[in-house]
Parts: sequence; structure tokens; C-alpha cells
Amino acid sequence: MNEARFSTKSIWAGEKEQLAFGATQVPVVHSVSFGYDDMDEWYEVAVGRKDGHIYGRNTNPTVQAFEEKIRILEGAESATSFSTGMAAISNTLGTLLFPGDRVVSIKDTYGGTNKIFTEFLPKQQVEVVLCETGDHEALEEEISKGCKVLYLESPTNPTVKVTDIKRMAIAGKAVGATVVVDNTFATPVNQNPLELGADLVIHSATKFLGGHADALGGAVCGRKSLVEAIYHYREINGATLDPMAAYLLLRGMKTLKLRVDQQNKNAAEIADYLKSFDMVEAVYYPGLPEHPHHDIAKTQMKGYGGMLSFAVKGGVDTVRNLLPELKYANRAANLGSVETVVGPSRTTSHVECTPEERAAMGIPEGLVRYSAGIEDIEDLKEDLSQAFKKLQTYAKN
Ligand SMILES: *Cc1c(COP(=O)(O)O)cnc(C)c1O
Repeated sequence: MNEARFSTKSIWAGEKEQLAFGATQVPVVHSVSFGYDDMDEWYEVAVGRKDGHIYGRNTNPTVQAFEEKIRILEGAESATSFSTGMAAISNTLGTLLFPGDRVVSIKDTYGGTNKIFTEFLPKQQVEVVLCETGDHEALEEEISKGCKVLYLESPTNPTVKVTDIKRMAIAGKAVGATVVVDNTFATPVNQNPLELGADLVIHSATKFLGGHADALGGAVCGRKSLVEAIYHYREINGATLDPMAAYLLLRGMKTLKLRVDQQNKNAAEIADYLKSFDMVEAVYYPGLPEHPHHDIAKTQMKGYGGMLSFAVKGGVDTVRNLLPELKYANRAANLGSVETVVGPSRTTSHVECTPEERAAMGIPEGLVRYSAGIEDIEDLKEDLSQAFKKLQTYAKN
């Protein structure tokens, strides 16, 4: 399977091993437990000396197919799964960090991740250092002081800042840190953190991997020893991926490349188009040559992704009038789906933060996050155009 190309892998990987009754599609196995008439066989499976399933909190055939597919797509030795992306993140950090440990990360991580860093880890006597996103010198300096975990996310939510993963992985390795990268925004179509030197790659499968906004899930991929330790933490803590969700994610992943290629194209055109509106103050997209991290993105990404954001003149009031006018966009908190999704960052990714915290993270209150869908680009452009025109009518009245 490793020699096949991306779309071939995304369709075939992980499937065959789980087929039953001559079915050509992976079954959704809802059984909570797996029974054995042979006591010796049961024992061998229970102690892990023989392949098989015991109890649904630990392993499940449908879930295993999902894990194998993401493992192959990220080119990892091992992969495990979770009920949500946040479960993947919290279980990974919970496995790796103990009182007295130090973790270095960036200020612009996903809102929930940021809460783990600012609210929960400090209570467990873990020292958390959050550097300015994109300030590679500051990151290197903090890493050089020693850390157990270097945690990165690139591109970030919502201003799509980019961190040089290869450079940071070298710094992390030098002090023996485990280098973790949240690859949710890029997807394995656009970026492979393991190839860039990361030890672990995390996904909120809820987003691009599933791609249809109908199932929650998470994944962690990397070296076997690390992933097994995280799997053990998860099987005990119980943040297990549901088999039905695993099936929906599996089905979504088969079209991952088709979707993400189209989203890359649509986002790039929309980012460019947005610049033509007087009401738009700034556009954030790593594919734009003027983006501060465009050069890094160009070297480490194969495509710039489906996510962008833009700030409008007039702040929250303009956002309030503009977004309801869009016909072809869900106004919602998710992203990475086949349909275009928009939302103010103050309501979506960073709702847990105070306005002061958002300002400190460089997130204007009038920022709109735009997750490009796979619709026809002309319709998306016409939709934005008519919505901005309506704004002018508001302004005149
Ligand atoms: C959504 C998201 C998460 C959290 O995933 P859930 O599945 O919602 O728990 C983590 N990281 C990033 C970058 C995300 O966009």
C-alpha cells in the first residue's frame, strides 16, 4: 500500500482487513464486546499476543479501518483514534506531560488547545511557555532551555500563520523533546509533518478528513512506542471513537484529495477576490505572496489549504450585517466541510477567550473565518459580491 499514490491509498488503505461476508465495504460493527468460546484464545487476545477484539472501548474493527487509513495517509508507523480532535490533543498531552515538565508552544493554537495550556496544565504543575506565532527565534530560545514537549499547529486558526516545522523539529530534537504537530488545517494532502521531522501528528478528523460535518473524531499518528503509550492512556480514559462516526470518517476520507484540491483552489481565488472590496481591511491566506509566512508555506506545503480569514472595516457591526447575506455558506463553528462555512472568530474558534485575550493573540473582533467549500467558484464569488453590495445599502440608509 505504501507504494501507491495518495488517492489510491485513501480509497484502499485499511479496508480489506475488515471485510466480512463478501461485502466490498467496511461494516459498521456496533457490538460492544467480542466473544470467545475458546478460553485460551480469549486469554491470548486479551494479553495482546494474538490479534482480535475484546471490548469496544479498546478496539473495534470499523475504528481500526479508520486508524489504518490515516496511518497510511500520514506515512506513519502507527496510528490511534479518539472521540474528537480535542480528545486526541488532551490524551496526547496527558500521556506525555507530568508535574515539573515544561512544554513550549505558540500563542495561536486552536482555542480548546489554548485552554489546555492556560487553564488545565498549569494546575498540574506543568510549565507552559507560549511564544509569538511565527517568531522562530523566540521559539528556538525557549526550546533550547529544555522542554519535554514542543507543540505546534500550522497553519493556525484563524489567521493562518505558519511555523517552520523542519526548523523547529531540529531545535526540539536537540533537547530531546517530543515534537507534536496539529495538522488539521493542512491535511496530509498539503503537508506531512512526520516527513518534516515531527514525532507525532494530530488531526481533528471532524474537519477535512471527514469532510462532511457529520461526524466527530480525532487521530494521532507517529512512532509505534509513542502511539501505543497514547493509545493506552485513551483506552483507560475512554475517549473512544464511535464505530458509526468511524464509518462516516472512512467514507469521507476516500474523497479527501479531490475535495482538498478543490478547496485549495477555491480558497486561493476567494483570498485574491476579497482584496478587491473596499470594506475588506486585511486578508489572511498563506498562499498570498504578501502573507508574512508565504515563503515557509511554499517550502513545507504542497497546497495552501482551504482556510482563510479576513477583517472587515467597521468590526463586529459589519460582520453582523454581512454574514447573514451569504446564500452559499453555513454560519457555523465547524470547518473543512464540502460546503463553505463562515463565522466570526469571536464566536467560533476563540469564543472561550476574552476580547483582551483575542487582542493579545492578534485576532481582530471583526475577523471572519472562511472555510472554502467545493462549490463552483463563480457562485462563491458572486455570493460575496452581492453580500458586500447589500452592506453598501445598509450604510446609505
Ligand atoms: C477543530 C479543531 C480541533 C478540535 O477538534 P474537535 O474534533 O472539535 O474536538 C483541534 N485543532 C484544530 C486545528 C481544529 O480546527
